[in-house]
Amino acid sequence: MTRTGRHFLQIPGPTNTPDRVLRAMAAPTIDHRSAEFGALGLDVLAGLRRVFQTRAPVVIYPASGSGAWEAALVNTLSPGDGVLAFDVGEFAKNWAECARRLGLDVELVPGTWRRGVDPEELARRLARDTDHHIRAVLVVHNETSTGATSRLPEIRRAIDSCGHPALLLVDAVSSVGSIDLRHDEWGIDVTLAGSQKGLMLPPGLSFNAISAKALAASRTARLPRSYWAWEPMIAANRSGFFPTTPATNLLFGLREALGMLDEEGLPQVFARHLRLAAAARAAVRGWGLEIACEREDEQSAVVTTVMMPEGHDADRFRAGVLDRFNMSLGAGLGRLKGLAFRIGHLGDFNDLMLMGTLSGVELGLAACGVPFRRGGVAAALDALAGPTSDAPARGC
Ligand code: PLP
Repeated sequence: MTRTGRHFLQIPGPTNTPDRVLRAMAAPTIDHRSAEFGALGLDVLAGLRRVFQTRAPVVIYPASGSGAWEAALVNTLSPGDGVLAFDVGEFAKNWAECARRLGLDVELVPGTWRRGVDPEELARRLARDTDHHIRAVLVVHNETSTGATSRLPEIRRAIDSCGHPALLLVDAVSSVGSIDLRHDEWGIDVTLAGSQKGLMLPPGLSFNAISAKALAASRTARLPRSYWAWEPMIAANRSGFFPTTPATNLLFGLREALGMLDEEGLPQVFARHLRLAAAARAAVRGWGLEIACEREDEQSAVVTTVMMPEGHDADRFRAGVLDRFNMSLGAGLGRLKGLAFRIGHLGDFNDLMLMGTLSGVELGLAACGVPFRRGGVAAALDALAGPTSDAPARGC
């Protein structure tokens, strides 16, 4: 089928890359040992610290988010160290598996995939660990597969409440630049992220923000590491350079994307995501469908995972939407495969893009014969135009 018009990329990452960022990347590659590159390096490293809300070093790897998982683990831990992880979704499970393959002793707390990490369960597990075998707690801030956002400040307090010294390692791949995350204030030891979601870039960069405690741990950690080693990276970064060939053109794009976040202001970026997410959920409730994340205070600002009515295949529905409306929706992952689809509402995204997306879903439900109530799109419009709307303040 011929597809006309612009493609709607409504998966929860990679997100739509703004034209400004695409244009910034379409520039001749420069010498990565030149003074011009050093200035670029210092610029993007400073901008990243603003977005991670930290004064600590943030390092950049030419890698996908999984590289940042491995970097966080191999720099801080030794073979056989205990790691506490929570099976709250596909990415949490896969990060735990990465730790296991690296030779760590992983305790994976079972979960329903309908909510985030339970801070009370975390405190109970740590309180039992009186000999401090557990050296790190792994938490996925925003679980992109289920649309559940874990409550990091409560998680920090849970660790502190039992006086446990474990490092707090946080996967913020789908939250950095979209959902408030305060690396320093919330006492996170490593915050890791990727370029392809809230940072509005194509895939290919990933990040570790490193606390002083994590850096100290890296000096005695014994897991083998070479490419991922923090020390040479941090040393070269002091003057804006990298120990290996950096992804120069992605860094051009990163400078532009960080500029866009600065221009809008981080609080406004977070508020925009919250508002659009509330409208997306109003649509799902209007259709009479079920949101995967069952705790309202954990429902994600960047992705809504929608359960399909029983007997209807989510992948068939997504294929129908792509064919008819030229829109990609996110697949259900892992144990949600075929049972759920995901609406991404993050990055360079606004009211009309959301309404186009939700219209595509509503039309698709009807076209594919999925049982639903009409009125989800209207409910989302009401949510956008409601008391939280800033239109009157702008005087239009
Ligand atoms: N963590 C989360 C929360 C993710 O959403 C993803 C990918 O979507 C990853 C980790 C893995 O990142 P990548 O696929 O870039 O390696």
